[in-house]
Amino acid sequence: MPLVRYRKVVILGYRSVGKTSLAHQFVEGEFLEGYDPTVDNTYSKIVTLGKDEFHLHLVDTAGQDEYSILPYSFIIGVHGYVLVYSVTSLHSFHVIENLYQKLHEGHGKTRLPVVLVGNKADLSPDREVQAIEGKKLAESWGATFMESSARENQLTQGIFTKVIQEIARVENSYGQE
Ligand code: GDP
Repeated sequence: MPLVRYRKVVILGYRSVGKTSLAHQFVEGEFLEGYDPTVDNTYSKIVTLGKDEFHLHLVDTAGQDEYSILPYSFIIGVHGYVLVYSVTSLHSFHVIENLYQKLHEGHGKTRLPVVLVGNKADLSPDREVQAIEGKKLAESWGATFMESSARENQLTQGIFTKVIQEIARVENSYGQE
């Protein structure tokens, strides 16, 4: 029997950027127009990458702003993060910069497995954040950057596959120090 590794991933970002829609598309394979619950929610999915199997436990949060204090449950026992902003909201991008600093401090300034996601890329005419800005921010953290749309199943698969790979990458880099 293959070893199934447990991975807890928290999805953070300002409200209405598409956190729930991304998790729902990834786990259920559909886009829900106007679906907007306001409570924290969890999802589970077995993800197979090559010969490895992962039990991915996703925590979809209600949303944060620049004043939010992150609870311990978003720090302790968490393997990786998907940080989401909307390309149509510069404010949501600033909130993400701020959230990352809080996470970084909460983890004792260690390297964090993070995928930064610029969501709602299908709404290009309403764009307020250019892809290059997201890319630069992720690079400054040593993290991965992707633009996405919760309407596109393949893109959401890519995000959650990537965060599992980032967790392995950061773990391996510590092993080599
Ligand atoms: P959350 O508060 O961050 O969890 O955001 P939701 O997932 O509830 O999404 C907020 C609104 O944006 C809903 O009306 C969604 O249908 C819509 N939405 C989410 N992701 C996308 C996307 O990638 N493209 C478009 N066009 N709309 C999206």
